[in-house]
Amino acid sequence: MDRIKIQELKVFAHHGVFDFEKAQGQNFFVNATLFLPLQKAGRTDALEETVNYAAVCDDIVNEMQGKNYDLIEAAAEAVCVCLLNKYPRLQQVDLEIRKPEAPLDADFSSVSVYISRKRHRTYIAFGANLGDPLAQISAAKEAINADASCKILRSSEIIKTMPYGGVEQDDFVNGAFLIETLYEPEELLDFLHCVEQMQGRVRDVVWGPRTLDLDILLFDRLVYESERLFIPHRDMKNRDFVLEPLASLTPDFCHPVTGQTI
Ligand code: AMP
Repeated sequence: MDRIKIQELKVFAHHGVFDFEKAQGQNFFVNATLFLPLQKAGRTDALEETVNYAAVCDDIVNEMQGKNYDLIEAAAEAVCVCLLNKYPRLQQVDLEIRKPEAPLDADFSSVSVYISRKRHRTYIAFGANLGDPLAQISAAKEAINADASCKILRSSEIIKTMPYGGVEQDDFVNGAFLIETLYEPEELLDFLHCVEQMQGRVRDVVWGPRTLDLDILLFDRLVYESERLFIPHRDMKNRDFVLEPLASLTPDFCHPVTGQTI
């Protein structure tokens, strides 16, 4: 993809684990690569069709100077999240923060961290059948939108469904969200578990009653498996209460393994 590069932007800031680093400050150097389509800007010669790199430099400086972090990792994360949230044209930001005056007892020219953050699109199923399901779903929506790394782009209709899995319990309400996120899959799962816990979720009975359940159905076109996470969701094809809301959001999405549409 096309990109804009900002190299060796000098920022005086106060990051470091030592007190004197926070008190005295030092110079940091930032290298940023902004990924975005640039054909239209190239053809029209119009600033509105690109991202203004002068404004981006100001944002990097403000973000680097706005807070004193122990770690340049944290400063880098904050800069990436700020840029991706502020400039919807950016698809990805690669960022390096160099710290040439790091207090090291060694002969070195510089230490740096380099991170890459990008937007992802993920479909999340929600369900609830304990407490006040509609209130819990609406609180979950607010919590997701309040997070700097997540934004709900679309929500399906909420449907009422019969319990699944053979446990005697109240009917469920179900639905799905399309979310844009800067989280990677495992971080997203941790975040969704926090949102579930905020709504009083206790994990005791498998397929049992729940105040709120949030499952990752699809994440870009990723196929991923770890000890605690399967993407696409392993059981989605067997669950009408998942497929129906998902189909209302993206009927033509092809499952990345089976190739079937929703
Ligand atoms: P649940 O009872 O539906 O919240 O799911 C229980 C466990 O399923 C979670 O703690 C996850 O570790 C695991 N899991 C595996 N794949 C997924 C997925 N795609 N989305 C959410 N949870 C998943």
